Amino acid sequence: MTGTTQREAAVAAGLRDVFATGRTRDLQWRLEQLRGIERLCDEREREIADALAQDLGRPAFDSWLADVAPTKAEATYARKHLHRWMRRKRIGMPLSQWPARGWVQYDPLGVVLVIGAWNYPFYLSVAPLVAAFAAGNCAVLKPSELAPATSSLLARLLPQYLDAEAVRVVEGDGATTQALLAEGFDHALFTGGTEVGKLIMAGAAPTLTPVTLELGGKSPVIVTADADLDVAARRIAWVKLLNSGQTCIAPDYVLAARAVADALVAKIVENLERFRAGERTASQRIVNDRQFDRLAGLISSTTGTVVAGGGSDRSTLHMEPTVIVGPGADDPVMTQEIFGPILPVVPVDSLDAAIRYVNAGPKPLALYVFTESTELARAIIDVVPSGGAVVNHVAMHVLVAQLPFGGVGASGMGAYHGRWGFEALSHRRAVLAKRTTPDPTLFYPPYSRLAVALMRKIF
Ligand code: NDP
Repeated sequence: MTGTTQREAAVAAGLRDVFATGRTRDLQWRLEQLRGIERLCDEREREIADALAQDLGRPAFDSWLADVAPTKAEATYARKHLHRWMRRKRIGMPLSQWPARGWVQYDPLGVVLVIGAWNYPFYLSVAPLVAAFAAGNCAVLKPSELAPATSSLLARLLPQYLDAEAVRVVEGDGATTQALLAEGFDHALFTGGTEVGKLIMAGAAPTLTPVTLELGGKSPVIVTADADLDVAARRIAWVKLLNSGQTCIAPDYVLAARAVADALVAKIVENLERFRAGERTASQRIVNDRQFDRLAGLISSTTGTVVAGGGSDRSTLHMEPTVIVGPGADDPVMTQEIFGPILPVVPVDSLDAAIRYVNAGPKPLALYVFTESTELARAIIDVVPSGGAVVNHVAMHVLVAQLPFGGVGASGMGAYHGRWGFEALSHRRAVLAKRTTPDPTLFYPPYSRLAVALMRKIF
């Protein structure tokens, strides 16, 4: 065993021992962990924002908005509803089982592995922990080493706010993740790109560790001819700028009805400029060289027309918010998930053409539709599969703890947030409780003709 695998083995074994004590099943223990996460968000907001500024060059308010506030909201929502979620659900019995009682109870799974992402390195590490603790599990967190300041902050702070024996933070890279997976867990929840998602699933297979994969993809925005263009442009521009476009549910590209495409592009560009006016520079920081080079390559190789932005500075990893009009379908900016401040807008001749365009690719994590017609919005949602969908806004569904958050097909499997997270990390256990009386011997073999007739009726 190498030094690294020894560490992972010891962490997993330690957590299994803690789970075996049974203390994490208790409602009060779960509530204490959730309160701990709420306090962490309240008391350490400044330190979290500082770490995110180091890792991602983010303004402090954006870090509150996109990392701290949604994490606290998840914890608060779970704390308020947990008692009800944990109640066993009585099930009516079929005649064949009378007299008996049946119910579904939600058992903790055991030890859950959370593999965090670099783009929202606090939220995407701690929100899955909310689900893990609400469900009464122990957890090991492997934060992203691509956001090193946040990773070390989590390693330092989580033990101060949570049951330090029941949650362990293991820092490291992809090899650490694989070494952890090799230990076998009761569940693994990963957030990241689709390609690494496949490697996570492969790493989990030998130990039959079930996985929830929160992946990405190209989330399209369909803007119909009757849409409110002012609102659409504002909302698309605002969310695209968040975290320099490095958001799994960012609007990836826009399919606009040809009649309104020019006007929409002009309004999006205007809003991008207006929203950046208060900043020191119009450009936005990209996480690292690798992502910067990939994004710069998307701009330099595009077959579309760059109508805004296009500039970048590798020495500071800064890139201007860029709008590209009319790239071809096989242009890399239309085939790769963008994950940066680049917005292609493709004019389309009909709604059917837009629907065919999206459905020709893998199922996206989110679908956004701007239209004033409720019927049209529903009709589009019904024929374009995606993990989630929003009408007349983008990305806001992630903030609604009452809704399940997750992908479908290549954009992921499983979902969490709110009750859905509690269920994803619980075992939904069937229990049938019978009495010993009555116990008619009629129903044991050898079966009489009467028994056969009765059993054929009852079962
Ligand atoms: P990813 O998070 O997808 O992948 C990078 C991480 O995966 C690194 O920590 C890396 O470790 C690790 N990794 C690499 N190989 C393995 C392996 N065999 N087993 C386990 N972990 C491994 O981000 P990228 O930076 O690669 O981004 C690629 C794309 O992913 C982005 O362009 C974006 O489209 C998407 N993405 C989506 C996110 C989301 O929230 N849905 C979040 C982040 C990215 P190491 O450094 O050792 O290689």
